Amino acid sequence: MTAVTIIGGGLAGCEAAWYLAERGVQVTLYEMRPTLSSPAHTSPNLAELVCSNSLKSDSLDTAAGLLKAELRHYGSMLMAVAEECKVPAGSALAVDRELFALKATQKIESHPNIKVVREEITTLPEGLAIIACGPLASNAISESIQAVTGGGLAFVDAISPVISADSIDFNIGYFAGRYDKGGDDYLNLPLSKEQYNSFYDALVSAETVKAHEFEDVSVFERCMPIEVIASRGKETLLYGPMRPVGLRDPRTGEVPFAVVQLRLENQERTAFNIVGFQTKMTMPAQKRVLQMIPGLENAEFLRYGTIHRNTYIDAPTHLNSNLSLKSLPNIFMAGQITGVEGYLESMASGMIAAMQICATEPVEFSPFTAFGALQRHTRGEFGDTYLPGNFHFGMLPPLEKRVKKKADRKAEYSKRAMEVLA
Ligand SMILES: Cc1cc2nc3c(=O)[nH]c(=O)nc-3n(C[C@H](O)[C@H](O)[C@H](O)COP(=O)(O)OP(=O)(O)OC[C@H]3O[C@@H](n4cnc5c(N)ncnc54)[C@H](O)[C@@H]3O)c2cc1C
Repeated sequence: MTAVTIIGGGLAGCEAAWYLAERGVQVTLYEMRPTLSSPAHTSPNLAELVCSNSLKSDSLDTAAGLLKAELRHYGSMLMAVAEECKVPAGSALAVDRELFALKATQKIESHPNIKVVREEITTLPEGLAIIACGPLASNAISESIQAVTGGGLAFVDAISPVISADSIDFNIGYFAGRYDKGGDDYLNLPLSKEQYNSFYDALVSAETVKAHEFEDVSVFERCMPIEVIASRGKETLLYGPMRPVGLRDPRTGEVPFAVVQLRLENQERTAFNIVGFQTKMTMPAQKRVLQMIPGLENAEFLRYGTIHRNTYIDAPTHLNSNLSLKSLPNIFMAGQITGVEGYLESMASGMIAAMQICATEPVEFSPFTAFGALQRHTRGEFGDTYLPGNFHFGMLPPLEKRVKKKADRKAEYSKRAMEVLA
């Protein structure tokens, strides 16, 4: 393999281009900006961070810390650029966004094996290619992807919060499926009328994240934020996500006034998502309001809920485990369009696609590592419905030994991952 075309000069595209070019591959990187821009990008530079300037914590007792350590381990170009552009932010790695994108652009443009072409690509290329067009991929390329996958793209993601199992008070709830169907995969947390009323009042007055103009997602009933459902009337949730019907509490024989259902997020039973609780509440508001649910008083959020515009492919259905398209195995996908979420995850996904292209056999990452967890995620190994997600410790197999303190436990996950990599 001597030449690869990459579509999209964002975080995934740049990381993939660098990885390949450093190994002698001739890369042609197509970027549509500045001729055509996405609604979120503001500059002509490659690798633009479209919102926050934070690449999150650098500490190994956080998921972002482990992911960054793995990116550095594999020689991430963007991590090196981030180091050069960092600004003081405590234990987090935050960067000067403009400098970051500028330096990344200069590095990519001056690499002898990379040719950057400023052009929108509208059809899938011939030969080996990586599609890394991001969550705001242009309409034309989105249509081309849909044409080869039979409509396999989604354009909105609506995510419910994910809670660490060991922070849930299981004594409060009971396992049962509605009308006793579905085994014990659902934990039901009952609420009395008084508890429901307090929760409702907090929910409808909670602070929410302002949507971008291009994120008019309110038309999708399935994706309706919990607080919007609540605002339609005090009873509405009782006929929607908090419906108690068919969920008799076996300990009392009674049907509770309201129920919050938690569904298993992984086979290891270390994480649960709150069913139907996609939300635009700010993170502090999510923590405050959702911790009012009996049993979740000490809930640890592995992932907060969100709703935003996001173009992503149904990866488990349409991608092979090496990120190539099942219908066109010479075309690989990378970045947020594969259903990973976040700056770091997108960089990692770009590297993974490039590694897969360089390898003679599909690369299998250890499940104990963040890269392995992202690979398992795009295979659809977490949850029944494929939804975009960022990396969290709940995606790693449980620790073999019991570690009492939460911070120590998290550090232990990272230690184990780094030992595997070493
Ligand atoms: C509004 C918004 C805010 C976000 N904020 C954060 C945040 O604060 N923190 C966080 O961790 N994540 C955030 N994300 C999520 C995500 O991490 C970023 O979007 C990230 O940049 C994704 O990386 P990527 O490489 O997959 O896509 P991008 O970085 O978006 O790169 C895709 C590139 O492809 C180009 N392109 C698209 N179509 C074509 C085409 N047809 N031909 C040629 N070029 C094309 C685009 O111009 C773009 O440069 C945000 C996403 C959005 C949309």
